[in-house]
Amino acid sequence: MSAYDEFTAHIAKINDLCCVLNLLTWDSRTQMPEGGTETRGHQISTVAGVAQEMFTNPKTLQLIDAAEKEVAGEPEDSYRVRAVKYAREHYEIARRIPASVVTELNELKSMSQAVWIEARQKNDFKMFAPYLAKMVGLQQKIAEAIGYKEHPYDALLVRYEPGMTARRLKELFAELKAGLTPILERAKAYPEARHDFLTERIYPADKQKAFATEISRKFGYDFDRGRIDLTVHPFEISFTRQDVRITTRYDEKYAPQALFGLFHETGHGLYEQGADPAITRTALATDLLDLYAVAGTSYGAHEAQSRLWENLVGRSEVFWKNQFPLLQSYFPEQLKDVDAEAFYRAVNRVKPSLVRTESDEITYNFHIMIRVEIEMGLLDGTISIEKLPEIWKAKYEEYLGVTPPNDTLGALQDIHWSSGLFGSFCTYTIGNIMSAQFYEAALKQNPEIKPALEKGEYKPLLDWLTENVYRHGHAFLPDELLQRSTGSKLNTGPYLRYLTEKFDLLFPHK
Ligand code: ZN
Repeated sequence: MSAYDEFTAHIAKINDLCCVLNLLTWDSRTQMPEGGTETRGHQISTVAGVAQEMFTNPKTLQLIDAAEKEVAGEPEDSYRVRAVKYAREHYEIARRIPASVVTELNELKSMSQAVWIEARQKNDFKMFAPYLAKMVGLQQKIAEAIGYKEHPYDALLVRYEPGMTARRLKELFAELKAGLTPILERAKAYPEARHDFLTERIYPADKQKAFATEISRKFGYDFDRGRIDLTVHPFEISFTRQDVRITTRYDEKYAPQALFGLFHETGHGLYEQGADPAITRTALATDLLDLYAVAGTSYGAHEAQSRLWENLVGRSEVFWKNQFPLLQSYFPEQLKDVDAEAFYRAVNRVKPSLVRTESDEITYNFHIMIRVEIEMGLLDGTISIEKLPEIWKAKYEEYLGVTPPNDTLGALQDIHWSSGLFGSFCTYTIGNIMSAQFYEAALKQNPEIKPALEKGEYKPLLDWLTENVYRHGHAFLPDELLQRSTGSKLNTGPYLRYLTEKFDLLFPHK
């Protein structure tokens, strides 16, 4: 066996264990009776421990060293060279974080999540505060262990958005703020589009599912390698490209939640299904730091695909021109006095709100900026835990002109901090920015995509994305991937152009 094959066989076993972990997680969030919670926790931690041991074992380093020698001289962007390089990078980072810190974090996570749920129900921030303080302390320890030049946030970003820094994020956010604020102000000056047919009529769940399934299929999601299940907090998860699952929940009183939610998860699913068969069970289809089977190269790149299909495609005027008759065929009564144009306007309302997950394309980014600024402040010590609720409120007033009436709708809103996901919020907005870069490049490079979209055909777009993005897995860092496929690194140009064009038509300058 060649050294590279030996390395690959070792990583394949780690990938198998990651797929098992994913499956245990999928099951616990879709099928498992509540009684299984405690024993499932043990099962996950046992399998994760085995995978962790296999990866951080010095044997892995020997295999990496030997494989590296063997692939030396091969093209720098070949999957073989990239798989070794990527495994080495993750190995070195994983080895820097002391095992005791990992254990401490895992124990704190389950406790602080439970306390967060209760604190949120009781609107009691003080109850959650000591756990959040511990969590911030641990995240600071992890940042120190990983190492950084300027800001502890930089070290935490390695896990979610390699190559990104706090400094660069601040610049991107400043550009977005300058570009989005005038659009938001203009939107606020317009009367809200008619939407009674979305909020005052009942849409049976089985029909929502049937419509969304048809759209997923049209987008190119392969049901021979995928399925849709019910859950409380929708997600996508895969066990190699051969089995990629998406989940949803249905609100019969508000259908857009499941419809756009499924477009979103379909986008994540297409990324995973589109991975090159050659990278199956390799490092390029494995997050070796988080021990998670995933082919998407970063959280932002993944989110870019969900956003692209949900918003740039699924919330566009041409999409609803094509697909509204299909929707109407499922809901003839509910939509009898509505046309495609009215539906398009209703699902593109722009309105500042308190809740991130219910926000529109424009205000979503402000919700993220607020969280990221607070995260950075908590990590560098410029924001204290006790002042957090106040600062949250002040920022909502400043950015969105709305005031949370309590902490449940304020600083206790998201699960992320209690789960230790410091550094992940920014990837939602990075995903938005990237989605427009990929979309603009696809339309420019292949002139057949636009006329196809106008006919309701999505294959040319999917083919471009698969060829340029999906198939590569972790082979390229986000900026490398963008540079190769679009000709530029991450930048706000295409995203601001897209939003300005779209919302100038919805809310014309008076
Ligand atoms: Zn997503």
